[in-house]
Amino acid sequence: MKIALIAMSGIRCCDAELLELGLTLPGFVERSKTIASLPSLGLLTLAGMTPAGHQVDYIEMPDLANMNNLDTDYDLVGISSYSAQINEAYELALHFKKASVPVVIGGPHVTALPDEALEFCDSAAVGQGESVWPEILNDCRRGVLRPVYGSVERDYDLACSPMPKFELLDISKYNRLTVQTSRGCPHKCDFCASSVMLTGKYNQKPPQKVLAEIDRIKQIWQKPFIEFADDNTFVNKQYWKPLLKDLKHRRIKWFAESDLSVSEDTEMLDLMRESGCAQILIGLESPTIEPLDGIDLNSNWKYKYFDKYAEAIHKIQSHGITVNGCFILGMERQGPEIFDKVFEFVKAAGLYEVQITIMTPFPGTELYRKLDAENRLIEKQNWEKCTLFDLNFIPSHMSVDQLETGFKKLAEKIYSKYFTNWRREQFKKQFRRGGD
Ligand code: SF4
Repeated sequence: MKIALIAMSGIRCCDAELLELGLTLPGFVERSKTIASLPSLGLLTLAGMTPAGHQVDYIEMPDLANMNNLDTDYDLVGISSYSAQINEAYELALHFKKASVPVVIGGPHVTALPDEALEFCDSAAVGQGESVWPEILNDCRRGVLRPVYGSVERDYDLACSPMPKFELLDISKYNRLTVQTSRGCPHKCDFCASSVMLTGKYNQKPPQKVLAEIDRIKQIWQKPFIEFADDNTFVNKQYWKPLLKDLKHRRIKWFAESDLSVSEDTEMLDLMRESGCAQILIGLESPTIEPLDGIDLNSNWKYKYFDKYAEAIHKIQSHGITVNGCFILGMERQGPEIFDKVFEFVKAAGLYEVQITIMTPFPGTELYRKLDAENRLIEKQNWEKCTLFDLNFIPSHMSVDQLETGFKKLAEKIYSKYFTNWRREQFKKQFRRGGD
């Protein structure tokens, strides 16, 4: 069969003023830009498990401007998309369906709303793609595609992971590539729309497979920058310590997302630094404790850890690893004072990098269900607003206008040239002092 695997890519933001700010303030939408420019590891993995004999094309679609130039002589089209681009993914699916090409769509959005997707495509892939792809290929070849494949309950053991087909990429287009070591997260934040949507378990890939993927990348990019595409990378420190020692010999630079518990293990921090860790991104969420209460539905971990936030950031940065601290604005119990509180916290902690986003009710999350039940969603199914920068709910302790205006003013302050340089200097000082 001739198969197209299409990733909806590119950054989205409905608020024109914010979009303008993002263009003028380096740092503001930096993380979103980085994510938007990563290749789709999910689709490269499906390509890697597609038996030889099929032809696979990997295509990234930043928008639909060139949709009509796409070949339509495929036997199957697989589309992966997040919520913000899902309407474009649906339009693309209809484009292929009109040409009688079978279309399957997957990803977290479709996992949450398979029935919605089925209005536009032949099949919805729910949960982890690898667990259903061989069946989809087989059924497509026989012309008997079913509407829904998979479920969140269906396990997939990462020990069986195929090698992603990195060689499909034009490497000159990327400044980092992704490798996944785990799926899931032991915390279960009510707003989280990452791999916790696809699986209820925390599952890790055997270290030999991780190293093999990095070695494969090094065949096409000698000194790569790797982003570990995990939601919470260092949950299992015993898994990571030997792996970090092996990574050290690969001479790569890398980035990961973690919770703050990594700060408690000095040996880990030393190994991370020695093996090329450039930055870790940490969801701090709020600089005040009240909004954290109850967001982690498993153990209230962030709420309990709050007292150690500043000390933990200092410890990590004093090991030469920059921290990108993420804050969500508009959380429950955050009032208009929150904007100054975020700024004060960032300043006191000397955070090297900061990411601020607006609380976003993604479909399928507990947050969405709660706000829906309380009649606080502004446009229930406006998925285009799931950008992390567009407000689509009524906040609990401020007005819509206060949140939107306060967010823009905070962005101007936090990403100003002066404050950005100041943050960089603070990091250097912490590193020089070595955590005293
Ligand atoms: S800690 Fe991060 S990855 Fe884990 S559930 Fe919360 S938001 Fe998601």
